[in-house]
Amino acid sequence: MIPFVDLKTQYLAIKDEIDAAVLRTLGSTQFVLGREVAAFEGKFASYCQADQAIGVNSGTSALHLALLAAGVGPNDEVITTPFTFIATVSAIDYTGARPVFVDIDPISFTIDPALIEAAITPRTKAIIPVHLYGQPADMDPILEIARRHGLVVIEDAAQAHGAEYKGRRAGSMGDLGCFSFYPGKNLGAYGEGGAVTTSNSEMARIVRMLRDWGAERKYYHDLKGFNYRMEGVQGAVLGVKMKYIEEWTEARRTHAAYYNTLLADTGIPLPAAFPERRHVYHVYAIRTNERELLQPFLQERGVSTGIHYPVPVHLQKAFAELGYKAGDFPHSEQAANEVLSLPMFPELRPDQQDQVAEALRAWVEREPTVKP
Ligand SMILES: *Cc1c(COP(=O)(O)O)cnc(C)c1O
Repeated sequence: MIPFVDLKTQYLAIKDEIDAAVLRTLGSTQFVLGREVAAFEGKFASYCQADQAIGVNSGTSALHLALLAAGVGPNDEVITTPFTFIATVSAIDYTGARPVFVDIDPISFTIDPALIEAAITPRTKAIIPVHLYGQPADMDPILEIARRHGLVVIEDAAQAHGAEYKGRRAGSMGDLGCFSFYPGKNLGAYGEGGAVTTSNSEMARIVRMLRDWGAERKYYHDLKGFNYRMEGVQGAVLGVKMKYIEEWTEARRTHAAYYNTLLADTGIPLPAAFPERRHVYHVYAIRTNERELLQPFLQERGVSTGIHYPVPVHLQKAFAELGYKAGDFPHSEQAANEVLSLPMFPELRPDQQDQVAEALRAWVEREPTVKP
């Protein structure tokens, strides 16, 4: 069976360094924040071309604190796309603000800048472009619209560590960037983790305070904060992994290019690549209008797949209160019905990719009604 992701192979490859870092952290008893987290924050900030990175306990916490640092609260509106993981929208909801959706561009699966202005109202405070699957959103027009309307831009870069748009790294283009280190992400902790990146020193100061009970000085609470601190062990693991993130990212890009070659003449719609954007392929998704049949067909041939994501957020029961309905965001809805994610992880081998491609070829040849 070709797994969809394989965390074990990566762990075994760096086991000695990881184990030593974890044991060193346990020995230091700096279980929460501490030296290892601070060292990781420094490395991650420079990797993202940002002045600062603030380690927190999840990508969701990163989004929540970024929104609060942007001054978002009840009665505000925040624009994002419904074709994302639900956390993007839940974080907006946590602040008391209202999520306002804008459809995706069907080629990149990221927010369509041409549709943003029509969604702006006097209550709009921020825009959250999502670099979905590791593909950077079209940031220049988004930043231009935000500047013109005085809006804060928060990048949801939870799937986009190291992604680039015109030479600028994900997490450095908006006012704030939010990352997840959930184990399966491109940079994964051995537990939960996240970070906010920013080059705005005041916003950085607020995020730092909010993650640790709103205090700069222990027991002097200037803000109503949270327990969103990063654990020492996660900082230690991530610090080790920073040595390899570029190698792993290039491996993902090589695998994507190989899939593109193997599948080029199948007629299957493949992920879009843009010359000025560095896609980091957290997910490599093909499209099919017969997913219900194709997914089990691949499974029978030893190929695990995933669906990211089957229901756009505006049609999730949890957000029914927003009052959206089917048909409101046709590109997001079509993508949710059609995407199918192929195995993708840095340690994926060419022979495994050959097997994936063979199974897809068998499908295309067997099923003459397949309409790409
Ligand atoms: C994973 C993810 C999040 C949330 O990160 P957690 O660390 O799981 O809280 C937010 N947005 C997107 C797009 C994600 O993929």
